[in-house]
Amino acid sequence: MQGQNEVAIRRLPTMFDLMTDLQAKPAAPATPASAAEAYELPVSVEGRSVFLDVDGTLLDIAPRPQDVRVPEELPDDLARLSIHLDGALALVSGRSVALLKTLFPSLRGSLIGLHGAEIARPDGTLAEAPRSPELQRAVEAMRRAAAEWPGVEIEDKGAAFAAHYRLAPGFAEAVEAEMEKLASGLGDGVIIQRGKCVIEIRPTGHDKGSALLALMSRPPFAGRLPIAIGDDLTDEAMFRVVNDLGGLSVRVGTSGGSAASAHVASPDDVRSWIRSLVR
Ligand SMILES: [Mg+2]
Repeated sequence: MQGQNEVAIRRLPTMFDLMTDLQAKPAAPATPASAAEAYELPVSVEGRSVFLDVDGTLLDIAPRPQDVRVPEELPDDLARLSIHLDGALALVSGRSVALLKTLFPSLRGSLIGLHGAEIARPDGTLAEAPRSPELQRAVEAMRRAAAEWPGVEIEDKGAAFAAHYRLAPGFAEAVEAEMEKLASGLGDGVIIQRGKCVIEIRPTGHDKGSALLALMSRPPFAGRLPIAIGDDLTDEAMFRVVNDLGGLSVRVGTSGGSAASAHVASPDDVRSWIRSLVR
C-alpha cells in the first residue's frame, strides 16, 4: 500500500503532459496507415515508465511459440530505451522469466513472467512461483492428451503450462475441455488464462496488473507515469491498473472490448515507436 501511495504522491507528469506530447507529434510518418496509429503513442517518454508485452506486441506472433523471431535491431533499441528511462522498462509476458532471458539476453530491465507470477528485477532478485507435483502430473496428462491432436503444442513454463492450437484450430474445443478438466482437478491454486489460440493453466493470485503495481512501488519505476502496451486478454489487467494510475494504456491490434485508452495496429508500430525514441 505504501508503494501505491508513493506512486500517487511522487507522480510528476500528468495527463496534461501526455496530451501536450500527443499534440506535439510532428508531421505524419511516410505510410498513411501508420501515421494515425503512431499518433496514439507519445513522442517523449520523459518521466515515464514503460511496460511491454512480448508476443504480439514487441514480436510478431509465430505459428508455434518456439518459432518466434526477435528482429535483429530490437535488443539494441530496447537497451537504449532502458537507459533512456533510467531502467524503468519492463517486459510483461506470459512466458517464463527464464525464457524471456534467452530471448533478450542483453536487456537490462525488469522482467515479469507467467502473467505476473514471476518478477525479476535488474538487481538479480527473482520472485518465482513454485511448481507443485500436482502441476507436474497435470502437464504430463496434457502431453498425453495432446499426442492425439496433431499440431497442438504444450508449452511447459515451470509454474504454468499452456496448450497452443494455432496450427490445429479444429482441436480448440477438445483442448479447452481437457485443460478445464485438469484445472478443476488442481483446485484453487490455479486459474485458466485464455489468449489468442492458447489456453493456459497458471497460478492464481497474480496478474499483469498486480505485477506492474509491485514494480511501480519501487525505484526506478516509482514516481513515473506508466505506459503499458499489450495485445491480448491477459494485458487487460495491466491496462486497468495503468488507467487508474493516470497512465497510458495501448492495445495492439483490434481495439474493441479493451480497457486500453489508445490503439496501434501491429508490433511493427510498437517497434517503430521505440526506434523513434532512441535513435
Ligand atoms: Mg501478447
